[in-house]
Amino acid sequence: MKDVIIIGAGTAGLTAAIYALRAGKSVLVLEQGNYGGQIINTPKVENYPGIEQISGYEFASGLFRQAEKLGMEYRNEKVKDIRLDAADGDNGEALSSADVKAGGKIVETTEQSYHARALILATGAKNRPLGVEREAEYTGRGISYCATCDGMFFRGKKTAVVGGGNTALEDAAFLSNYCEKVYLIHRREEFRGEEKLVQELQKRENVEFLLNKTVQALEGNLTLEAVILRDKNSGEESRLEISGLFVAIGQMPENEVFADLIKLDDHGYILAGEDCRTNVEGIFAAGDCRSKTVRQLTTAAADGAVAALGASQV
Ligand code: NDP
Repeated sequence: MKDVIIIGAGTAGLTAAIYALRAGKSVLVLEQGNYGGQIINTPKVENYPGIEQISGYEFASGLFRQAEKLGMEYRNEKVKDIRLDAADGDNGEALSSADVKAGGKIVETTEQSYHARALILATGAKNRPLGVEREAEYTGRGISYCATCDGMFFRGKKTAVVGGGNTALEDAAFLSNYCEKVYLIHRREEFRGEEKLVQELQKRENVEFLLNKTVQALEGNLTLEAVILRDKNSGEESRLEISGLFVAIGQMPENEVFADLIKLDDHGYILAGEDCRTNVEGIFAAGDCRSKTVRQLTTAAADGAVAALGASQV
């Protein structure tokens, strides 16, 4: 029986681990992929209070080391289900009556089952696909969702980024350091991302904004060779030859696995207030997976702290 099991090792999950460990609790963190969450692919973080500039990788690694030094148990396992109580517990072993009274929770992964007094769901979000025909076919053959991971494959080539948020703006800036040309395709006139980033991009000679345009179709033989764009105002279609298309149109939650037990909002985010408490006592939601308006590194870290302090009292 762990005091706290945290599902997800992004900023919210690892911050929660640090706080729960410092509160003297035993903590298991389960992560299906790599630790670090979304921030690990951000080249430069410049808006975390107290840190002028840091790479996402350095930030995430620091968080992980900090939690590890405090005694975090970390396992690379995918969660299949969470359940309440557990008279029939792990490997057929019954929980002690004290644990059941404490409201034992069971977490089932693809490998095994674990018990905890409290759970913190910190599953973050995954990249939203464009939803254009043949997108899956070209993924890894010209289409990427991570400029910092795959940008180097397109050195000296023509690429495009789709999206108008901070991720798209940062991706375009990153790619313009290596690519011959970077088109930034956005469906509106105004960007959602920070004005400072827009201004920096405007100064770069190899970056061109294609505004009020959407990607209608993808073309190419084995790999992506061109995209068909439609102008929102005129309805005109045009063909843009590129080797790489970086999709940066936001995220979607990944909470389906909890839906039988935990209330989600209409978009699939976990319903929990600023106290991070879900509809089930002893289960908390922290970070981007939670229903909220501002999803930033700072708010993920804040949620992690709030959820951990709540979970430490269960
Ligand atoms: P956002 O949700 O901020 O932006 C998504 C963008 O994609 C919007 O411009 C949106 O257009 C566009 N979009 C959404 N769906 C489609 C679609 N189907 N077709 C075309 N365009 C579409 O996502 P981000 O990933 O950029 O950022 C997520 C959060 O993370 C934000 O809060 C951001 O500020 C933060 N962030 C912070 C960073 C930092 O601090 N260094 C770095 C990166 C992200 P529209 O505007 O018209 O809705």
